[in-house]
Amino acid sequence: TVRTRIAPSPTGDPHVGTAYIALFNLCFARQHGGQFILRIEDTDRQRSTAESEQMILDSLRWLGLEWDEGPDVGGPHGPYRQSERGDIYVEYARQLLESGHAFKCYRTSEELDQLREERKAAGQHLALKPCDLALPADELARREQEGWPHVVRMTVPTEGTCVVEDMLRGSIEVDWAQVDAQVLLKSDGMPTYHLANVVDDHLMGITHVLRGEEWINSAPKHQLLYEYFGWPMPTICHMPLLRNPDKSKLSKRKNPTSINYYRRMGFLPQAVANYLGRMGWSMPDEREKFTLDEMMAHFDIQRVSLGGPVFDLEKLSWLNGLYIREDLDDDALLEALKEWAFNEAYARQILPQVRPRVETLSEVMPLAGHFFAGTVNVDEASFAGVKLEREMLVKLLQFLSWRCETLPAWNKEALLAEVKSLSSHFELKMKDFLAPVFIAITGSSTSTSVMDAMAILGSDVTRARLRHAIS
Ligand code: ATP
Ligand code: GLU
Repeated sequence: TVRTRIAPSPTGDPHVGTAYIALFNLCFARQHGGQFILRIEDTDRQRSTAESEQMILDSLRWLGLEWDEGPDVGGPHGPYRQSERGDIYVEYARQLLESGHAFKCYRTSEELDQLREERKAAGQHLALKPCDLALPADELARREQEGWPHVVRMTVPTEGTCVVEDMLRGSIEVDWAQVDAQVLLKSDGMPTYHLANVVDDHLMGITHVLRGEEWINSAPKHQLLYEYFGWPMPTICHMPLLRNPDKSKLSKRKNPTSINYYRRMGFLPQAVANYLGRMGWSMPDEREKFTLDEMMAHFDIQRVSLGGPVFDLEKLSWLNGLYIREDLDDDALLEALKEWAFNEAYARQILPQVRPRVETLSEVMPLAGHFFAGTVNVDEASFAGVKLEREMLVKLLQFLSWRCETLPAWNKEALLAEVKSLSSHFELKMKDFLAPVFIAITGSSTSTSVMDAMAILGSDVTRARLRHAIS
């Protein structure tokens, strides 16, 4: 049976690209009556977080992309989190060492830098081969004996061409000369993506790998690993990457890339899933609006076109509007609103903000209205009362929005610390720094506390409003 998977690394916000690849894997599996698996690739212990993993699961589920096996639902091939499979990778690395398909490398990072420099100077290709990395026998013996930190690398051919078959692209040819003796186990004993990905795809019975085209360069290494292990290689298919309207790779600097953003802005999951299904793919009858079930029923991977699909917010908004008008009766619209923001949990966050500031109940909504909005209406004139030059103001909001991207935790304390550090950077009093922020976030010069508002609105809406204020 066909088995596909999505294998996200939980290192940040849930990316629309992850949802897009998940959708196509799900449709491919279902169309063949197969299974779709979710595996968490969290071998990068520095960058992986439990919060990110939870957000990825939540947002894929929100979109209706259900998996048959995964870290939360279990299954016969678990654990489905790579950080819990460490011993497995060590064992397979050991097998490769034994069969001579891998070697221990005791080179220090200074030596590696130097090797790269030398090769660059000599005009040679940068890929490092086992022979480049080899140490004189006595030096190797010394480092081994003294227990120096080391990695395990795979051996790779030095010449010839590797041919990888891709479901959509046909034969992809790569010169072996360009392929590094890839690290498989890091010095801390953790596997790299390449080893863990191949071992798990095999052990989890994955038959088809649909993933982003950014992984094409990894395919020769993976193919070689399958050969070394004597395992059949899954059929692979590299999907075109999503693009900004200017055709560059979709990036959060130019376009919101987090599913959280779309959810907070009030897009409907069925519209987002539908729109992602239109990324490089179309229904046989070319209709633009279709459900997930319809997509599964008519899915055909050969209909994927490789010309970079553009993720266009305006088109998505248009489609979302169609869903609201054509698919949601009053009951369903009410349900959607409740799930979005018209619910008790959200109200309870907002009430403490409005209580000290109103005399009648009728003043609540005018004051709290911005909590139920996406971006707010501001333009240059909105900042007329702020005693800062426009250029300075733009810089300041821009900086804050960038800093918000990298905040490790989203809460009032962390925000306050960031605002403090930025105001001293700009040599401004906190109060003066916050004045334009207040207008950008709440859309008015009299409203609820701006720090609390940012904490409640969340990172995505906050950043969108900061960007919007200076666009
Ligand atoms: P950004 O440029 O917005 O920071 P990124 O490339 O850094 O994005 P990552 O966090 O590295 O994003 O990727 C998260 C996941 O999203 C990865 O699985 C990656 O394959 C996928 N992804 C990132 N960009 C795209 C894209 N343009 N199209 C499809 N998938 C993408
Ligand atoms: N963990 C990789 C990612 O984040 C998986 C790539 C693959 O599908 O092989 O995209």
